Amino acid sequence: MSEHCSVCGRSIDEREQPYVRNDRVICSNCHYRLSRPAPRENWFVRAMNAALSVMVTGVLFILGVSMILAAPPGAITIVCLFIVVFAEREAKKRKK
Ligand SMILES: [Zn+2]
Repeated sequence: MSEHCSVCGRSIDEREQPYVRNDRVICSNCHYRLSRPAPRENWFVRAMNAALSVMVTGVLFILGVSMILAAPPGAITIVCLFIVVFAEREAKKRKK
């Protein structure tokens, strides 16, 4: 006895693996089509967006601090880099 897919109505071959979704039998085509996540931006676009937001946040932070302290942005950048490097070293020390 062959079953019919409840989504597309196609008869499911006996050699074919039937799938159950919401208590209804569906064919493999519909299973893959429905179980695939919604189309997302590809990883490159997402990585670029993440990098861009980090850079924008960093630049805004440095500019903001330089305005508050009335110091040149370059000096604040160097101080920030020192703090980041120092913090990473401390974190590594603590892990050991
Ligand atoms: Zn189907």
